[in-house]
Amino acid sequence: MSRVVVKGGTVVTMEPGWLPQRADVLIEDDKIVAIEPSITADAEQIDATDCIVAPGLVDTHRHVWQAGLRGVTADMVLKDYFRSVRFQASPVYRPEDIEVGNLAGMLEAIDAGVTSVLDFSHSISSPDHAEAAIDGTIASGGRSQFALGFNDVVGQHKSLDSAQGCLHLAESLRKGRLAADDALVTLGIALSDLPEVGLERIRAELEGARRLGLRSTTNALAILFNDPVDDIEVLDGAGLLGPDIVWVHLNYATPDQFRRVVESGGSVSTCPEAEMAMGMGRPATERVLAAGGHCTLGCDVTTSVSGSLLQQARTAMQVGRLLDADERMATGKAPLSVPPSCETMLKAATIWGAEALGQSHRIGSLRPGKQADLIVVRTDAVNTAPMIDPYATLITQAQPSNIDTVMIAGEIRKSGGRLRADWSTVQKRLEQSKEHVARAVTERGGFLPRPALDLPW
Ligand SMILES: [Zn+2]
Repeated sequence: MSRVVVKGGTVVTMEPGWLPQRADVLIEDDKIVAIEPSITADAEQIDATDCIVAPGLVDTHRHVWQAGLRGVTADMVLKDYFRSVRFQASPVYRPEDIEVGNLAGMLEAIDAGVTSVLDFSHSISSPDHAEAAIDGTIASGGRSQFALGFNDVVGQHKSLDSAQGCLHLAESLRKGRLAADDALVTLGIALSDLPEVGLERIRAELEGARRLGLRSTTNALAILFNDPVDDIEVLDGAGLLGPDIVWVHLNYATPDQFRRVVESGGSVSTCPEAEMAMGMGRPATERVLAAGGHCTLGCDVTTSVSGSLLQQARTAMQVGRLLDADERMATGKAPLSVPPSCETMLKAATIWGAEALGQSHRIGSLRPGKQADLIVVRTDAVNTAPMIDPYATLITQAQPSNIDTVMIAGEIRKSGGRLRADWSTVQKRLEQSKEHVARAVTERGGFLPRPALDLPW
């Protein structure tokens, strides 16, 4: 049995009623076994002096496979992202490209303190691509709910051109390598887009996922069609809403739509940087909270934004404050408070994210019996000292470079501020993959070229 004690840090557990305080955390194998003011144990020691010890972050919407396309859509709206990434790049991905993309993308997440990801894996051109994406994910050592994409990919293998075909692949993974619900990598389903495929296909996908005991995630109310489709109304009318769905974006949702999602027990993933970067509308954070729900956060696309979940929490918080203050100032009054708080946003990035994954009994907070997923963040750096309020330090100031140690299921994946993985080898493979993708995309007409971008400034 391995034993590790994280000593002398300021511990924020995200458990109800816990006040940040100096404490030691004892870990045996993959589990937390004690959190006490001082623990003397025959164990490997991690010195957390001048550090915050917090739960690992939980990202509820990220397309991990896209790591090799970093920044290509940074100046594009959503429809041009679709053309460049979904219709041009995705179809030319080989299994080896998605494998190294997932490995690199998961390492990026781990480096940023993200110990769990809901990976919306929507570049599944063939069953081999699914296997390769899972290979890369497992190789990273990160925790993932691997949501198998049921959406169409241009030119995909004919076995995946129907809901039944996609469900057959899901069932084989469910009975095979992703059978265990308590493994580091578990299976979920990323549904097709309702406006594209219609209700009957979505019904088949969702009911099939439920028969397999799998949770689902879907994009909704983010794209302004000429003839908008109200995903929530359609699924509600069909009796398909449920607590096993993570709704992504919901930028255009009304208070009634948020209420319906919250009453169904469903979760909402807000991706503030990506949504603002691609013109998808205002992030939903404060509207989810106003409906009595728990907002969660995702980085979504590193083709457009950063892979730091703390950055997403920071952005969501400040946008929420902007919108709230704007409303008050429109009435000629100054705001008397600036919700949401830093503590609320850390909940969004940890325990509420774990709830969205259906995993809050295992991850998302620090408590004896839970999985040992935690981060140790330096507070003696030039941008974090002195630490007075740990929530403020984490949400308003900390960068991935301040994250000294990342532990996932008791395994140390980053220490002394450096990933333990062999990044230089992964990077070389990622560069080779990028070369292949760039060549193949050029042959198909290329990414939307920069000179064609119509930006007034
Ligand atoms: Zn997305």
